[in-house]
Amino acid sequence: MSQEELTQEMLSYFHNWDPTLMKIVQKKKSIHNWPLFEVEPLEKWASDSGKFILIGDAAHAMVPYLSMGVTMAVEDAATLCKALSYVTNKRDLKPALKLVEKLRVARTKKVQAASLANGRVLHLCDGPEQEARDAAMRPSVDGALLEQSPYGMSDRATQDWCYGHDVERDVEEAWAKLGRSQRIHASGLPEAKLC
Ligand SMILES: Cc1cc2nc3c(=O)[nH]c(=O)nc-3n(C[C@H](O)[C@H](O)[C@H](O)COP(=O)(O)OP(=O)(O)OC[C@H]3O[C@@H](n4cnc5c(N)ncnc54)[C@H](O)[C@@H]3O)c2cc1C
Repeated sequence: MSQEELTQEMLSYFHNWDPTLMKIVQKKKSIHNWPLFEVEPLEKWASDSGKFILIGDAAHAMVPYLSMGVTMAVEDAATLCKALSYVTNKRDLKPALKLVEKLRVARTKKVQAASLANGRVLHLCDGPEQEARDAAMRPSVDGALLEQSPYGMSDRATQDWCYGHDVERDVEEAWAKLGRSQRIHASGLPEAKLC
């Protein structure tokens, strides 16, 4: 799109806003169109060899409406670090990566979906849905901590599941459940060959 087309598009979005905003748009030097993309949830992050795993945006880039992109990358790294701390021999490596994959696919899928849903709520057109959203959120503007809010970012439920998640405990519990025989089975290596 040309700069002129981008300017016209932007002005069309803001045509009924405060005239000051329109003047700012018209005075701009250039406009950048910055689309937001997400990676469709991937089911497989770990290679069959058990020596490689994808983490961060490459595995789960998401829209920014929960500000959780980098947090998910850090959680991935912490999960991997914790899982690797249990690896004491070759046979444990592949099951450890598979376990990271299982835990992180579920967690990041949920956050991606919630972030997308938050974006929809933020961008409602004027009308009954937008009015219901605003009414439900009004107490939080006055400082109240809501149990649940249509814009899940500041409410207690979201703070618990989204921002208060303990990834190390996830690994501790999952590793404890993964018995020795399951680890050997998942490693794909016969027991006699292991060192
Ligand atoms: C404008 C903006 C605002 C954001 N705000 C927030 C926020 O408020 N909160 C939040 O949690 N997240 C935010 N994010 C998302 C966050 O930045 C990403 O989720 C995070 O950076 C992902 O980290 P990553 O290490 O997986 O990937 P990246 O940060 O993309 O790192 C990948 C690195 O790999 C390098 N690379 C790529 N290809 C190759 C190659 N072939 N060889 C060698 N190196 C290569 C790249 O140069 C880059 O340095 C924001 C993103 C943007 C764009």
